[in-house]
Amino acid sequence: MSGPLLRAPVLRLAEAGWFRRLATGPLGWRVASRFVAGETLDDAIRVAKSLDGRGIATILDHLGEHVTAPEHVAEAVAAYLRALDRVRLEPFLDIQLSVKLTQLGLDFSHELTVANMERLLRAAEEAGTIVMIDMESSGYVDRTLRVFRELRERHERVGVALQAYLRRTPGDVDALPPASIVRMVKGAYLEPPEVAYPTRREVDAWFARLTATLLSRGHTVHVATHDEALLRGAIAYVERRGLPWTRVELQMLYGIRRDLQLSLAEQGYPVRVYVPYGAEWYPYLTRRLAERPANMWFFMSNLIRIGR
Ligand SMILES: Cc1cc2nc3c(=O)[nH]c(=O)nc-3n(C[C@H](O)[C@H](O)[C@H](O)COP(=O)(O)OP(=O)(O)OC[C@H]3O[C@@H](n4cnc5c(N)ncnc54)[C@H](O)[C@@H]3O)c2cc1C
Repeated sequence: MSGPLLRAPVLRLAEAGWFRRLATGPLGWRVASRFVAGETLDDAIRVAKSLDGRGIATILDHLGEHVTAPEHVAEAVAAYLRALDRVRLEPFLDIQLSVKLTQLGLDFSHELTVANMERLLRAAEEAGTIVMIDMESSGYVDRTLRVFRELRERHERVGVALQAYLRRTPGDVDALPPASIVRMVKGAYLEPPEVAYPTRREVDAWFARLTATLLSRGHTVHVATHDEALLRGAIAYVERRGLPWTRVELQMLYGIRRDLQLSLAEQGYPVRVYVPYGAEWYPYLTRRLAERPANMWFFMSNLIRIGR
């Protein structure tokens, strides 16, 4: 992570109209395609098959967030149902699904979001997979966890992401239903210091502490980071305590630390890669650029070079 200090200017630049126009054109896509499988479900399945050939499982994310019109919510639900149907038809591939609740109606109503998630969870049941809920910016955490807890009363195949950078997360861990499925991440959004720890040292320490707490309390944990020290720490914790690997996965993003993804899979650890696809890739790309100054530099120099 570049650290919150560098994240802010990159995310602000990404909001500027001129930058967005440049970055969402064909030139921008050439750089974005490092992090995004493509615009269609077929593109994503092609990537899932190639990962599967290397012993790596997939989590599919149909890109989109902050849907502002009800008809777009219906489109997002339909896209996820298509993805789940495809997962059902590919029983030899290990594919989970990840969703953002703002795509499924969270800005409109709790009830609409729960109803949409229920449809996805019924389809996930048929496909024999699970649906993970991404965690978005801090203003959505209460509403997201409320939806998760309600669904968890009726469904086993649902999990949620928690962010180590948020000061509130230890309390959210305490309030989890027993045997939850939790993805532990550092956190990708721009948050004020009252809400999120501002230094990498604090975020990393909380990531390790919360991962250990979740594991010791019997939750299933998806350790989602490219931070090799944290991944090795989680592996050592699981092995020292003799915890079953059926309760732990190591997860990374498509296009980031491919070397580490491969080497952990080759060592026999359960590795899953988060594969985003779809036309709405710009907000996702800006978060990946903001995580690392080198990415922004790579992006800008490519735009200049290709544009000449
Ligand atoms: C499977 C998965 C699901 C996620 N889901 C969510 C979610 O629901 N909500 C949420 O807020 N966040 C989510 N994230 C993003 C997460 O919060 C971090 O922003 C992201 O993982 C970068 O932090 P890091 O843990 O890799 O650690 P960092 O300290 O940022 O990075 C460690 C190392 O990884 C490499 N690296 C990290 N990021 C990049 C990059 N963009 N480009 C190139 N190299 C990089 C670098 O080598 C870096 O030194 C998810 C991440 C993963 C892996």
